Amino acid sequence: MPCPGCPKVKADNHPVMPSLGKLAWNFMGSMRRLVLEGAGHAPVEEVQRRLKICESCELRVDNRCSHPDCGCYLDMIPLSVPLIGGAPGRAQYENMDCPIGKWKL
Ligand code: SF4
Repeated sequence: MPCPGCPKVKADNHPVMPSLGKLAWNFMGSMRRLVLEGAGHAPVEEVQRRLKICESCELRVDNRCSHPDCGCYLDMIPLSVPLIGGAPGRAQYENMDCPIGKWKL
């Protein structure tokens, strides 16, 4: 069941990701927040708790959140960069929260 005011849902009931422009806007907002509030990592147990909640969320699309104010990767973002391997997703950052309040520290 989609939350009020949220996402467009395709005919097959699959949530639609925000547009590229909105994704860029949301990304800039998240970066601003991480700079201002800190980009520390959440404890492992907390990350697992968050991902468990996302797992059953109707707005999750694979490893991403389709909420219009989000679009983030939720778990580690796979990168094909040698030695780095991946980047933290939304659930890994201590100061991030769910756009509809399903989880926060
Ligand atoms: S961050 Fe929140 S809205 Fe997005 S998939 Fe997870 S629980 Fe759902």
